[in-house]
Parts: sequence; structure tokens; C-alpha cells
Amino acid sequence: RELPGDPRSDTVPREVLHSCYSKVSPSAKVDDPKLVAWSDAVADLLDLDHKEFERPDFPQFFSGATPLVGSLPYAQCYGGHQFGVWAGQLGDGRAITLGEVVNSRGERWELQLKGCGKTPYSRFADGLAVLRSSIREFLCSEAMHGLGIPTTRALCLVETGKSVVRDMFYDGNAKEEPGAIVCRVAPSFLRFGSYQIHASRGKEDLEIVRRLADYTIRHHYPHLENMKKSEAWAVEVAERTAYLIARWQGVGFTHGVLNTDNMSVLGLTIDYGPFGFLDAFDPSYTPNTTDLPGKRYCFANQPDVGLWNIAQFTGPLSSAELISQDEANYIMERYGTKFMDEYQSIMTRKLGLTKYNKQLLSKLLNNLAVDKVDYTNFFRLLSNVKADPGIPENELLVPLKAALLDIGKERKEAWISWVQTYIEELVESGIPDEERKAAMNSINPKYILRNYLCQSAIDVAEQGDYEEVRRLLKVMQHPYDEQPGMEKYARLPPAWAYRPGVCMLSCSS
Ligand code: AMP
Ligand code: MG
Ligand code: MG
Repeated sequence: RELPGDPRSDTVPREVLHSCYSKVSPSAKVDDPKLVAWSDAVADLLDLDHKEFERPDFPQFFSGATPLVGSLPYAQCYGGHQFGVWAGQLGDGRAITLGEVVNSRGERWELQLKGCGKTPYSRFADGLAVLRSSIREFLCSEAMHGLGIPTTRALCLVETGKSVVRDMFYDGNAKEEPGAIVCRVAPSFLRFGSYQIHASRGKEDLEIVRRLADYTIRHHYPHLENMKKSEAWAVEVAERTAYLIARWQGVGFTHGVLNTDNMSVLGLTIDYGPFGFLDAFDPSYTPNTTDLPGKRYCFANQPDVGLWNIAQFTGPLSSAELISQDEANYIMERYGTKFMDEYQSIMTRKLGLTKYNKQLLSKLLNNLAVDKVDYTNFFRLLSNVKADPGIPENELLVPLKAALLDIGKERKEAWISWVQTYIEELVESGIPDEERKAAMNSINPKYILRNYLCQSAIDVAEQGDYEEVRRLLKVMQHPYDEQPGMEKYARLPPAWAYRPGVCMLSCSS
């Protein structure tokens, strides 16, 4: 092992000092565990034959009930700022790494079981996960990948056959729910908080920050090995984070818990808890009930929160003298520049234009917010607008009708005026309509994992029927394609979607 580990191996909740990890085996109780969903695409990353999913002992291995030969399971120690406040040690409280697989292409993939029992980092909680949150993590990991957005992946979902007790936040009652375990896969699950924790423990542990930084660069940023590497690395982390958040803004994804322990050092979307995709455009949307008072993690705040989190990440690197204060400032500047470049480029492409038009975009976003227009469906329909300045005024909104059904008479003018300016821009860009439509459809998804879709799949899964989970997985793997027969998955949320627990969720279940 290249990094210092915990000399003890048990599940007693405690401060684990001077260590990056603790050896601990999965211990969730299972009773006839069942494989209920899986991703062939992730199996391919691991060179795992799809037939392996059919093995009767597969659920035993992927619930942690049977150890994998050669695996040395461990849980990571990390800390983090939660809702802006330093929370001290957090760590993998219910995730256990089984080990790493190096595939035939030389790629290294870490396999982690989430919900498989207590670790020294479980604090007051049970180390388990319920089916509903595991389905959400499984589906959204693969949906984000389908969208082309960097993310941790999910190999499979196993139902444990044992129930888990959870307090329901909206009525305060305890409820028994089916337990489940997701196998997550990523090159690494290191987070900003993985570096923060050691710096927070004083001078003596700054050496661990340096060793962990070295380790990260050697294994995950090898192209930086021969440069002035710490600064180059931190710049790249900042830029990957900026890119990631720009992509989230492009598809209306709201993470919901952007604490620094949920910020991947590889710039991946990590930890799917109370996330949500925007339905109606609402910059102040937060899917997380815990976040309601301050809306710190609402959709529109994500880019600023990313910067704040980068500042927390550069802190430990400065303390460990890996970067100077000037370099830390420069890294934050680079975050800002990269975010603006990417965001402007994404929004320009969403509009099917060739150059960024700030006024046009902000007028549009304002209109979308005022009329609570569906973010995804609007942009998908927008590609039907023709670059033809001769269209009569009363026909201008026809291509957008399905997204603008509810706008009142008094709002029509604002929309007509926007479309007129938009068409002028289209004409100026000179791109043929069909070409533009194809380009727009490759950045404006038709299908996103709306909360109500997830919830419908969960409702039937809790009755033992997993077909809907599997169907959603298939649809979300190709979100930019027209999928005949699947149009219902592009529909707006029905009224029931606004009940508690569907559009609003709490942190850890
Ligand atoms: P999160 O809000 O999901 O990022 O979780 C914050 C911290 O709580 C992390 O250290 C998690 O490992 C831990 N945690 C969340 N849920 C559980 C659970 N059911 N049992 C043990 N630890 C948990
Ligand atoms: Mg977390
Ligand atoms: Mg979580």
C-alpha cells in the first residue's frame, strides 16, 4: 500500500487519525439477495462477460456476502465542508471498496459497494441503503453517462432481501423499506475532502497531504508527472470541475448536496442523493429539503459553489506547501474562466448559434422562468424553428407550442419578440435548418431522468417489478436519440409528481 492505513480493522465509529483508509469487510445482512438491474456497458469497462450477471452466485458477490478472491476491502477516510461549515471527519460510512480492476486497455477501475454495512466512518448511522435511493443512484449514474457528462458509473443493483428502517422526513414516521446495494465504479472516488481531512489535523499530517497528492497525480494525472506538477494538477482539477458544472447547467441537473466531500478530484459527478433535473425552469430550484432555508445548493448557485469548493480544495495544498498563495488565486481564476468559456459555448450550441449572444440568452432564461417553461422540452423543440424572416407573427410560436401551452395572452408578446430576434440570429449564422437541427439535437436531450420517472420505477420496484427500472435505463442510455414508442418518457411531470418525496428529497437514505 502506498498510503498510510488504519492499524485497526473493525467497525467501531471513531476518529481515524493519520490514515487514508481502514480495512473493513462488507457486513450487510442479506437474505436471498437478488440482482435486479445491471449495466452491460459498465461490465464492458471491466472486461466482465455479460453472462456473469446470470451466475446464481453473482448477487452474493455484489452484496458483499461472499468475498471476492484477491480483494482487500477498505473504506476511505475523508472530511468535508457541509453546507459551508467544516464538519470534520466523514469518510465512507456505507461504501466499501472491493479493489481495482485493470482492464485490457490498461484502464484502472475501482469497484465500491454502497450500502453494505458499517465502517469506522458510519458515525451514528447504519451503513445501509434503501432500494429507492439505490435505484436513483443506479439510474442517474448511467443517465449522466448517456448525456456525456463525467460521472461515477454503476455496474449493478442488488436487492438484499432485508429491510432497512428510515424516518420519513415529511411525516416524521419510521418506515421499513427494502434494502439494496449498488456497485459503483470509477477510476477513483477521491474527493476534495480526502485532502482536507489531513490538513485539518495539523502540521504532522501535512506529509499525508503531499503523499496523497503524489499518489493522485501518479495514478490519475500521469500526463502531469514531469511538470511543475502540483500547480498544474490543481489547475486541472479546477478546470474539470468548471467543465462539469457547466455541463450540469446545460441539462438542468441540480446535484443537491455539493459539500466538499461530494466533489470528485477527477471532476466526476459523485454521490447521487437528493439530485433533480429541472422540469419547469426555475433558477432557485433545489431538490434537497435540508437545503430549503438557504437554497445554498439551488440550480443557479452551482457555479459559485464550485468556486467556493475549489477554494477549500486549494487550502490544504497551500498548507502542505504544494502551491503558493498566488498560485491558489490563479487556480480560482482559471476555474472562473473555464466555467464561463464552457457555459457560453454550451448555451450557444443549445441555441444552435455560432456566437454567444448574452442578451438573447438572458432574455430567454428570463422568459422561461417567468412562464415556468420546461427547460428540456423547450430546447428540444427549439430546433424546429426555421431561419426564415418571412414567417408571419401569428405563426412564430407554432414550433414551440407544446412547450408554451400555458402562457397567458399578456406573455405572448414577450415570446414573439424573443423568437423574432432569435430568427435574425439564425439567419445571420447561415447554417442550413437541417444541419442546425441535427447539431442542436446532439446537445439538447429529449429524455432526462425526471424525478417523477424515477419515482414511477421505484413504486413498481417496491412491489417486486423491475421492468420499469430496466426500461428507464435503456431509454436514458440514449437521451439524444428519437426513440419511437418511448415518447411518454419525455412528458412533463403529472400532478402527483409534486407530492413530498418525489420532487423533494432529504440527504442520506
Ligand atoms: P452524503 O450527504 O451522502 O454525502 O453523506 C455524508 C456522510 O454521511 C458520508 O460520510 C456518508 O458516508 C455518511 N452516510 C450517509 N448515509 C449513511 C448511512 N446510512 N450509514 C452510514 N453513513 C452514512
Ligand atoms: Mg457523500
Ligand atoms: Mg450520499
